[in-house]
Amino acid sequence: MISKAILKEFQKIVGKEKVLATEAATMSYSYDGFLDKPVKPDVVVQPQQDEQISKLVFLCQKLEMPMTIRGSGSNLSGGAIPVKNGCVISTSAMNKIKQIDYTDMYAVVQPGVITKTLADNVERNGFFYPPDPSSMSISTLGGNVAENAGGLRGLKYGVTKDYVMGMTFIDSDGNTVKTGGKTVKQASGFNLSGFMVGSEGSFGLITEIILKITPRPAASRAMTVDFDDLNKASQSVADIIAAKVLPATMEILDNYTIRSVEAATSIGLPVDAQAILFIELDGHPAHVDDDFAIVQKICKKNSGNIKIARSESEKNKLWQGRRKALSSLARVKPTLILEDATVPRSKIPDMMKKIQSISKKFNISIGTFGHAGDGNLHPTILTDRRNPEEMKRVEKAIDEIFDAALELDGTLSGEHGVGIAKARYLEKELGKGTILFMKKLKKGLDEKNLLNPGKVGL
Ligand SMILES: Cc1cc2nc3c(=O)[nH]c(=O)nc-3n(C[C@H](O)[C@H](O)[C@H](O)COP(=O)(O)OP(=O)(O)OC[C@H]3O[C@@H](n4cnc5c(N)ncnc54)[C@H](O)[C@@H]3O)c2cc1C
Repeated sequence: MISKAILKEFQKIVGKEKVLATEAATMSYSYDGFLDKPVKPDVVVQPQQDEQISKLVFLCQKLEMPMTIRGSGSNLSGGAIPVKNGCVISTSAMNKIKQIDYTDMYAVVQPGVITKTLADNVERNGFFYPPDPSSMSISTLGGNVAENAGGLRGLKYGVTKDYVMGMTFIDSDGNTVKTGGKTVKQASGFNLSGFMVGSEGSFGLITEIILKITPRPAASRAMTVDFDDLNKASQSVADIIAAKVLPATMEILDNYTIRSVEAATSIGLPVDAQAILFIELDGHPAHVDDDFAIVQKICKKNSGNIKIARSESEKNKLWQGRRKALSSLARVKPTLILEDATVPRSKIPDMMKKIQSISKKFNISIGTFGHAGDGNLHPTILTDRRNPEEMKRVEKAIDEIFDAALELDGTLSGEHGVGIAKARYLEKELGKGTILFMKKLKKGLDEKNLLNPGKVGL
């Protein structure tokens, strides 16, 4: 609880109606996409301008109050849950697209712009903002930058970091920091944009982002391919890349996930298939046709059963299986734990096998789906938090999944970030020296540890 006098200081900065402090109003800010122990903030503020954020930071410094900046709260690693009460600074009222320049191909946005809003805007003008997290209709661009969000198009088009040209952020003292810019090339000063991407609110509050946009591909074609053997699906992924074809998306569902989706939706997925690949190619029409033929040949050679989408509406129908994966798995048991282990794509067959053997070893249900093209798998554990004995087995299984990913030269997180969920595993991947270096940076840039404390192990 904070005093009325302090509340008034917040109201002076952003206006009375942009300050929430009642039990009911702050409750929803104690959760995000990662279900852990909720911690309610003392106060939630919704600034509309950079200067207000700067003043809020000054005030929080004076009060020694922790600050957690929050977009839509859709992250899956606990990044937006305050761990020490304090102040949540919501970017929901900073949601303007400030400029789109189609000649120099960039967009300038406030951090609270919803990802899909920008993507739809540029698409209407024949342009393309490729990073497409599945959550793009709810996530903000500020949250995407802070988590280095990826998506279905990662294989061909990269992830958020590949589209950040520059930004403005407010540091822990309330100073404005500008980095990067509107030019394709920029070598003046440190690459602070690169430093801020994936920083999960630990080093500054991003108030403006300059994002690269590209011309929209002229054509695209899509297919699904089902296989009676998971290895044949994984082999097809490796063969397609080896044939120098780069699909825009190449997604995979395992048998457990296929059956869960079909049980939930009855859309006609082949429940006996051990895996389905969802493949989309885009680019120049002639190029797309050539590559489409190569992909079909490879999948046939690996005994895949191909369904081609003849139109956009057919593609949307076929793609439902992939889109419904997470929500369908969520129906299976009361608790869903979505992991994000990622390996070099050539190691996907090994990782898939490892996940299956971990599922058997600990007798727990795991459905796996994900971005086969870039090695980013989502082993999804279905369990029940109310069963402590099963939860012990689940924790051991998660440890082994991470160990397996690291043994295969992979990472704990391909796109969901560390937050509080994966902080205790980070040293295993990065080593002691790296953790110490991160802590030194944090100490130097946020001496009192007030910017989103307790995240990324800091
Ligand atoms: C159903 C579902 C599907 C998803 N699919 C994907 C996917 O395909 N790919 C993927 O990468 N992620 C996915 N996610 C996770 C999530 O949507 C992303 O992590 C997204 O980037 C979070 O955006 P947000 O606006 O919700 O940020 P929040 O959750 O509010 O915040 C995330 C982190 O960013 C920090 N932050 C937010 N705004 C700022 C700012 N302006 N300045 C500094 N730091 C800031 C916060 O402090 C926090 O640490 C999915 C989530 C759900 C629920």
